[in-house]
Amino acid sequence: MDLGFIGLGNMGLPIATRLIEAGHPLVVFDTRPDIVAQAVDLGAQAASSPRDVADRAETVLASLPSVLASREVALGTDGVIEGRRVERFIDLSTVGSTAAQQIQTQLAQRGIAMLDSPVSGGVGGAAKGTLTLMVSGPRDQFEIVEPILARLGTPFFVDTKPGAGQTMKLVNNLLAATALAATSEVVVMGVKAGLDPSVMIEVINAGSGATNASRDKFPKSILPRSFDYGFATGLMVKDVRLYLEEAEALGLPTEVAAAVGRLWELVLREEGPESDFTTAIKPIEAAAGVIVDGRPSG
Ligand code: NAD
Repeated sequence: MDLGFIGLGNMGLPIATRLIEAGHPLVVFDTRPDIVAQAVDLGAQAASSPRDVADRAETVLASLPSVLASREVALGTDGVIEGRRVERFIDLSTVGSTAAQQIQTQLAQRGIAMLDSPVSGGVGGAAKGTLTLMVSGPRDQFEIVEPILARLGTPFFVDTKPGAGQTMKLVNNLLAATALAATSEVVVMGVKAGLDPSVMIEVINAGSGATNASRDKFPKSILPRSFDYGFATGLMVKDVRLYLEEAEALGLPTEVAAAVGRLWELVLREEGPESDFTTAIKPIEAAAGVIVDGRPSG
């Protein structure tokens, strides 16, 4: 199947690479020419706009950093909606259910099906094909593209209701945001009290406090102080805000989520939107006057 791919960032490029390696002809677009050139070197064909991608491929996937970018790519004057060949649009980005529903409605008016399929599993999962994909939309469309999605990881069909995959993803990411914030806070507390952070993480991982934050993010990017996990603070804050919006729209209490949200807003102010989200520990360290350094000589 001829595929298009828009948004070749931290997630998009490794995902596109897996599709090329699976033998799919792939037409790509990104606003950054340097990254398009990298994909062309791997075997992709460059397009001049999302519309150009949708003129040349029947299935178009996107992995974009904001609600605004997803709307523009899908519905803009040079967007997928204007493409002559496209039959379905699969948005792998996290945009929340409201935006996904709006995009789905407008594409449907032009006979283009939409599947929202946000993903979890990070840059490592994108490269290895071990992502979790949370898909919603027409089931017959899902069945057509399931083998493609299976190349990227494990697709879960959440519901036929547009945006349901997005709600599922926001729930998952609020938990991930909470685990990283909470683990950062308790490890800083332990270090302030005199504990060794590497020993703490080892013990937590053998005990009942283990989460993906302690199993993966701390050993990979915080204890070595490399802060290079591959997910930007700005994107984490986007997801926490989207969760809070959806929970508040449902009239639900958000005691935990609101506290987690306040911490992430602080990280955004202190470290900036482009910082890696593992820098969440830095403002907590600064307030405590300690550094969580797990390097052998540290
Ligand atoms: P990124 O910022 O690294 O990549 C986004 C890419 O989109 C960039 O290459 C950018 O140039 C391009 N882009 C922006 N606006 C565009 C436009 N209008 N037209 C074409 N290209 C455009 O972001 P990322 O980390 O790859 O994340 C992408 C999406 O996946 C986000 O919604 C994010 O929340 C989600 N996500 C990321 C991760 C992760 O670990 N990085 C994990 C799960 C989900």
